[in-house]
Amino acid sequence: MAVVQETFAELKTLGLEEVDPDVAAILGRELDRQRGQIELIASENFTWPSVLEAVGSAATNKYAEGYPGKRYYGGCEVVDEVEELARTRAKALFGAEHANVQPHAGAQANMAVYFAVLNPGDRVLGLSLDHGGHLTHGLKVNFSGKLYEFHHSGVSRETMMVDYDEVLAKAKDVRPKLIVCGGSAYPRTVEADKFRAIADEVGAMLMCDMAHFAGLVAAGLHPNPMEHCDFVTSTSHKTLAGPRAGFVLCREEYASAVDRALFPGMQGGPLMHTIAAKATCFRIAASEAFKDYQRQVRANADALGAGLQEGGLSILTGGTDTHLVQLDLRATEWTGLAAQERLEECKLTVNRNTVPFDERPPMVASGVRIGTPAATMRGFDESDFTEVASIIVDSLADGADVPALGQRAVALCDRRPLYPGFRGYTTYVA
Ligand SMILES: *Cc1c(COP(=O)(O)O)cnc(C)c1O
Repeated sequence: MAVVQETFAELKTLGLEEVDPDVAAILGRELDRQRGQIELIASENFTWPSVLEAVGSAATNKYAEGYPGKRYYGGCEVVDEVEELARTRAKALFGAEHANVQPHAGAQANMAVYFAVLNPGDRVLGLSLDHGGHLTHGLKVNFSGKLYEFHHSGVSRETMMVDYDEVLAKAKDVRPKLIVCGGSAYPRTVEADKFRAIADEVGAMLMCDMAHFAGLVAAGLHPNPMEHCDFVTSTSHKTLAGPRAGFVLCREEYASAVDRALFPGMQGGPLMHTIAAKATCFRIAASEAFKDYQRQVRANADALGAGLQEGGLSILTGGTDTHLVQLDLRATEWTGLAAQERLEECKLTVNRNTVPFDERPPMVASGVRIGTPAATMRGFDESDFTEVASIIVDSLADGADVPALGQRAVALCDRRPLYPGFRGYTTYVA
């Protein structure tokens, strides 16, 4: 550890590398790690340099409890503008009547909706976690499973897709106050219109959690759930490619309930630097260039799925409508955990995931979730993803030559550099 000997005056003009070379070195190594492997975790992305700048801005200094025009602190008139911009852009992007851009992350966006319209003990129906749901959709150890009576429906054993007859039967049985659709590992379109019909039949409210596919929605490549839902929640850092954060969209009638649930209900001061970054993320997501990027994310997912299947591997539902494919290893010798570790040795970063009706525990699992948003951000196209699929197939084959496979992955990274010429953060200039 470096001995701290700067003066107070110096500390106020020095950048990270000078004040804290330990942390600067770690951050530098993390950027090297991101550059030197192929990022295939479906929930990750590489955000824009403009978003990184906003996240690193002095707006982090501002306390702004409350909402634009109705704050509990003075001096909010400037940050009010950026939150208003973020709200207006979010509404326009997704055709929503109301937006709350204050959730610190996706989990808080879901919590805000639950706090807005549910009482502890109320019944909710969601997608099972092991069929692609999310821990905030009623996992027993999560706040959602502790506070509310969550029930779950799953996918069909034959098609591995949501079985809407089963959802309806379950909804009639459970009589939930709220139905939650969307998830973290479902490769197919979330048909909010079908969930709406079911919700109407049992008198439930409907929420879609589009945390994973919000970018596809923004680009018009996935049906917009806002057309059919009372609430739509999301992250801004997955396919949407913005800062690590969340937001809630809802119908006007629920606007004040959602706003009050978030503040003062569950959060204190909003992260104004992150809200500024969300505004920039929404501005970019409304552009033609973003649509091109999302089209490539989709095309790459199709190329990846086709390549894996041509190589003899199984993927759930036989394809994808989104940015992710789910490798189903049940017919092989591999567990999800072992496959994840092997792929990591070959410079491919993925996460193991249960498949529906998995007989292995989640820490081992029988599937691997593979997504295209991050690698597409660094420029990978279909032919690159055909090569990625081939590396995956070869790495899970008998007698795989791990060093040679790692070299193939590194060759792809070298051809498609991440943040060329950028160190990952801006430097303070006194
Ligand atoms: C990622 C995700 C979340 C949670 O987002 P965090 O930002 O990690 O809190 C919620 N719901 C779904 C479906 C997700 O995939």
